[in-house]
Amino acid sequence: MDITITKAAALKPKPDDSMLGFGTIFTDHMFNMDYDPERGWHNPRIEPYGPLEMDPSTMVLHYGQGVFEGLKAYRTAGGDIQLFRPRENMRRLNNSCRLLCIPAFDEAFMLEALKALLRVERDWVPAAAETSLYIRPTILAMDPFLGVRASHTYRFFIILSPVGAYYAEGFNPVKIMVTKEHVRAVRGGVGEAKTLGNYAASLLAGDKAHQAGYTQVLWLDGVEQKYIEEVGSMNIFFVIDDELITPALNGSILPGITRDSVLALAASWGLRVSEQQITIDDVIRAHAAGRLQEIFGSGTAAVISPVGELCFGETTLQIGEGRVGPVAQKLFNTITAVQYGKSEDTMGWIEPV
Ligand SMILES: *Cc1c(COP(=O)(O)O)cnc(C)c1O
Repeated sequence: MDITITKAAALKPKPDDSMLGFGTIFTDHMFNMDYDPERGWHNPRIEPYGPLEMDPSTMVLHYGQGVFEGLKAYRTAGGDIQLFRPRENMRRLNNSCRLLCIPAFDEAFMLEALKALLRVERDWVPAAAETSLYIRPTILAMDPFLGVRASHTYRFFIILSPVGAYYAEGFNPVKIMVTKEHVRAVRGGVGEAKTLGNYAASLLAGDKAHQAGYTQVLWLDGVEQKYIEEVGSMNIFFVIDDELITPALNGSILPGITRDSVLALAASWGLRVSEQQITIDDVIRAHAAGRLQEIFGSGTAAVISPVGELCFGETTLQIGEGRVGPVAQKLFNTITAVQYGKSEDTMGWIEPV
């Protein structure tokens, strides 16, 4: 399939790299492609960024049949632009499609389409330290129809947003609150998909945590409310007795690409690594015995997010005396050095644009 390119008549002013936040500024162009049962995925095109026109009955607005991804493009010191494990994002997006009854797309073609969009928008990839261009591929159900069934038509788009350094003021260990009142996802549900409703379902618990002075919710499993799943929209890791532990994937946990990278790197350093069921009581016991060394989250936005305090009902655990642990720090330094081309890509994770 050939990608049609229509350039914007006028370009927007580029923001100052040092002033960037997250998710508020969008570039001049976007990628669009449509699906219908006769033509399959068709009409791939790069066009000026702009609003989608939708009938008020458009299915995604009513039933949430939509999926998305999040990844970043990085500018190296030499000015090149590169992606970190983008094939994994394409594979995961297709898995999300499968779980939401959305027709699969050609992953290799979509990676080429993303690169074509990035070549048009290359001047939008910021250069200041730890800044990047956030990439949001999205697929939405487009039938104008009221009634619960899978849509017959879809829109696939990719938008781009320059984003600032996550830790502009240095690493801040976050405070997290365990919730037993709410669950994010259940066994047999769509927890392992990046699908719209999962984020809507997390808002109330997030609001309650914020009101109580915490930045993130620690989610327990949806059946017994005892096994640890994720933190906010990040995966979670514990260092206990020098072993790196993360909850095993079970269908309700989102399989993070940063999570997978953390496991691979830690194992390559000779750390003991384990994917297992771990309960909140295990964590509290390990802390009481002085064996809990670190807790941190992992995800594309922050890479590594150290946890300094964990609250579970009446119990509050202080972790690492407000300092960032050595495992979290080494992972952050190593992953970001690969992403920005400062160190050799021994894992084959970098995709040049
Ligand atoms: C995206 C996401 C993650 C992290 O995935 P990465 O591929 O590492 O960015 C973790 N949990 C949830 C719920 C997510 O949506």
